[in-house]
Amino acid sequence: MEILLDFYVILIGLVLGSFIALAAVRLPQGKSIIKPRSHCPHCQHQLRSYENIPVLSYFFLAGKCSQCKNPISLIYPLIELFSAFVIFLTYLYVQPLPRFFLYACLFVTPMLILTITDWKYLILPNVITLPGILFAFILHALDQVYFFQNSSLISAMSESLIGALAGAIPLFLIAYFYIRVRGKEGLGMGDVKLAAMIGACFGWKEMYFILLLASVSGAFYGVALMIVKKNRRDTPLPLGSFLALSSIVFLFWGDKMLEFYLGTFREFLLN
Ligand SMILES: [Zn+2]
Repeated sequence: MEILLDFYVILIGLVLGSFIALAAVRLPQGKSIIKPRSHCPHCQHQLRSYENIPVLSYFFLAGKCSQCKNPISLIYPLIELFSAFVIFLTYLYVQPLPRFFLYACLFVTPMLILTITDWKYLILPNVITLPGILFAFILHALDQVYFFQNSSLISAMSESLIGALAGAIPLFLIAYFYIRVRGKEGLGMGDVKLAAMIGACFGWKEMYFILLLASVSGAFYGVALMIVKKNRRDTPLPLGSFLALSSIVFLFWGDKMLEFYLGTFREFLLN
């Protein structure tokens, strides 16, 4: 029974992963995610259903379009596998089952799409971030009122509102003053909306911890790029990707991380 459930979760992860890959490639180009059906970008050959199975199709087509034999980008199966892995972790760490399912569909899936679009195109599409803020309110309210039963709907909603503002306002101010001082965009409004989404889902304290995680990991990545790829210091970094990934990491291990962080901090103050 347990194994069967694991199998279903991985299947859900692969199907969501297939959707994530499609959305992450199409949305930044302003294309619809419904029409046209998946097709080869070289010869426009429309994929038959057996050519559109997550991960498997890539292998039995040997990474080539069945018509024109042009290579299929390896990014699709990689996104599908990575998504299935993250959705499986969601299942392990976000229980009970209905709560897992809501988080997998309404939080982790949009966050993974945003991670990829910001990474690849430096775009965080409004069609994801704006409904995402609404989903975050719904998830936080369901968590507090229904799953954990530790607050009323009104207080859960106000926590979300404070969390959203706590995420959005500092990033908005940084974006605003960066443009005023440097005369070019350093942080986009997409990052501001993404921070509102994360803040509404987790609350303000958690939001700042996620911001800290994202900045530290982003800074490490930036320095690594400067060393390995000889990037210039002002090459734009996909902060949104780091924010989105940090919020997923926080969803799984946030309580433990906060406990550890606050514990070390307290010890440091007392010594
Ligand atoms: Zn083709």
